[in-house]
Amino acid sequence: MAAPLVIGLDVGGTKILSGLVDRDGNVVAEHEVHSPGQSEGDVLAALDAAVEDFLDDRVAAIGYGIPANLERGTARILRATNLPLENVDLVSRSKDRFGLPVGVENDGSVAALAEWKRGAGRGVSNLVMLTLGTGVGGGIVLDGRLFRGWAELGHMVVQEGGPVCACGGRGHLEVLASGHAGDRAARDLYGPDADAHGLIDKARTGDARARAALARIGESLGAAVGSLVNVFDPEIVVIGGGFGAAAGELLLEPARAAARREAMPPADETLRVVAAELGAEAGLVGAALVGFEALDGVR
Ligand SMILES: [Zn+2]
Repeated sequence: MAAPLVIGLDVGGTKILSGLVDRDGNVVAEHEVHSPGQSEGDVLAALDAAVEDFLDDRVAAIGYGIPANLERGTARILRATNLPLENVDLVSRSKDRFGLPVGVENDGSVAALAEWKRGAGRGVSNLVMLTLGTGVGGGIVLDGRLFRGWAELGHMVVQEGGPVCACGGRGHLEVLASGHAGDRAARDLYGPDADAHGLIDKARTGDARARAALARIGESLGAAVGSLVNVFDPEIVVIGGGFGAAAGELLLEPARAAARREAMPPADETLRVVAAELGAEAGLVGAALVGFEALDGVR
């Protein structure tokens, strides 16, 4: 029999990126559709259609990366972000429907798994990843295993009493270091039509105000990284997501300095904070790797 392939689905609020992926993380084929976000039935039908696109006798498992809180142990979807999915047992549903092993994980955890196995974190046993996009997510690898709790790293408090987060809390990493934070900083400096991309462009051409605004965001990121390092002692901290990738060292340099200030020795010297390597495919590759873990019986 040919080497097995897995169908991975990177599920977002606006699109579903699905594909056929081999065990080495190579994407053999991929397809993107809009997420119909109107009802649970619509979303589940779109997910089924995305699987059926690739279903053939080479497919050995299915893996999903979902922007959601998952129940620990069962991976039942408790509540999704920007998708009408609540209290859905997608694992059982897909197993019944397709007769294959199924893995479901939080999208940030999926990206961490991908960067650990196939990206910037290859070869380490302990890794923390933060994805800076519209929101902030992340995942944790501890002692060579993906941590399968909530891992809502974007909702750790960085500034007590700070600005209100989308979740209702205050001063969370997400409200201080997401792409939206970049948009807000850009509007404050350049008016209502400015956005994070423009801010990054201006910083790259040497605009001191833009660089300072990104540095402030980087310092919030670094404070969070320092706290995570003090809890988990990772060998590497990987920063990804669309905003993180676009801003690159404009965020990472101030983040490193802030993280070293907060981290306890010897991590203050040895800490590595690096850019993600897999880019926009991290979610798809990671979702497929969750499928391979289900195939291999890893939980
Ligand atoms: Zn929050």
